[in-house]
Amino acid sequence: MTTPRSWLAPANDSPFGVHNLPYGVFTAGDRPGQRRIGVRVGDFVLDAGAAARAAGEPSVLLDADSLNPLLAAGRPVWTEVRASLTRWLTEESHREALTPLLLPLAEVELHLPFEVADYVDFYASEHHATNLGRILRPGSEPLTPNWKHLPIGYHGRSGTVVVSGTPVVRPHGQRKAPADAVPSFGPTRRLDIEAEVGFVVGTPSVLGEPVALDAFREHVFGVCLVNDWSARDIQGWEYVPLGPFLGKSFATSVSPWIVPLDALEHARVAPPARDVEPLPYLDDRDGEPWGLDLAMEIRLNGHTVSRPPFASMYWTAAQQLTHMTVNGASLRTGDLFASGTVSGPDVETRGALIELTWNGENPLKLPDGTTRAFLENDDEVTITATAPGPDGTVVGFGDVSGRILP
Ligand code: CA
Repeated sequence: MTTPRSWLAPANDSPFGVHNLPYGVFTAGDRPGQRRIGVRVGDFVLDAGAAARAAGEPSVLLDADSLNPLLAAGRPVWTEVRASLTRWLTEESHREALTPLLLPLAEVELHLPFEVADYVDFYASEHHATNLGRILRPGSEPLTPNWKHLPIGYHGRSGTVVVSGTPVVRPHGQRKAPADAVPSFGPTRRLDIEAEVGFVVGTPSVLGEPVALDAFREHVFGVCLVNDWSARDIQGWEYVPLGPFLGKSFATSVSPWIVPLDALEHARVAPPARDVEPLPYLDDRDGEPWGLDLAMEIRLNGHTVSRPPFASMYWTAAQQLTHMTVNGASLRTGDLFASGTVSGPDVETRGALIELTWNGENPLKLPDGTTRAFLENDDEVTITATAPGPDGTVVGFGDVSGRILP
């Protein structure tokens, strides 16, 4: 099938052409303060609710101030809405009515696109988990005995998930280096990033009923980028025995555009070979595995420091969704679960500074002559990604960026 062409000609060569159509929430000067659903097309944002009315097909789901009603509507409605948007943006008959509803991206403010219900963060990169094991537990097996049997995760703090561009205030907390006799209190000295991919749940599930691997597409609406900011000194002192807590919960940034799962069909790849046979509920070898070929990039103050390959992740998002409901825990509309730090096999593909600098031993050299073991105040980190689309197109993700404040 050939990808349809938009009457908005520049969009056709853009990673945000009609093959993508990610959803976000924006405000703009013509109606200040009023949050509206927008769909990114090229370097424009289509006012989706107004477009539906202009097309003679008004939609309460698109006239909302967050994506939650659309998320809750379920897969058949997602398909229908996407088909409508594609039709409006490709059929010449809609051009005149919709053109005034395309706002230049630079003239809108983007907001957190959905109300985050529960937030879970996983740990699915074998390279990342191995590197962290070597750094944090030298002399022992880098992977814990459970790692290849289940996707390890923890429940994070959904109320501190923020949209890209939100400044990150350096957190205070208890820090204790291994050589210190007692902990001290103060701002973290080891502020780090974790480049991750997030999955947004639309359709809820019923308490007590696990979600099977093949139901992934029914529940997951789309994909965004995540920066799981991490205070390594706070984390290192607090994480045994119950896992991450205040070293993570101060902020988690997400990209403003939710790329529909439907836009990523051409990005699907087989996950890496697993050398331990998974238990049957996690065994995706006979189904449709959900490896995704996202090429990510991390920039520190504009300088590219890493290019993590998401296709290298050991556990897929479908396995993570199944695992987190296998005990009967239910899904809610707006649940967000993140992949875990995406790190590839090579140094320049690692997704966190603690790995890139090997716990600060090999600081990064930046073009301005400075070095970084961890983040300094006023540093800005941006994570981007692209994926293959249909007919040689590229699917773009919105950036997730944040600047560190003292
Ligand atoms: Ca993480």
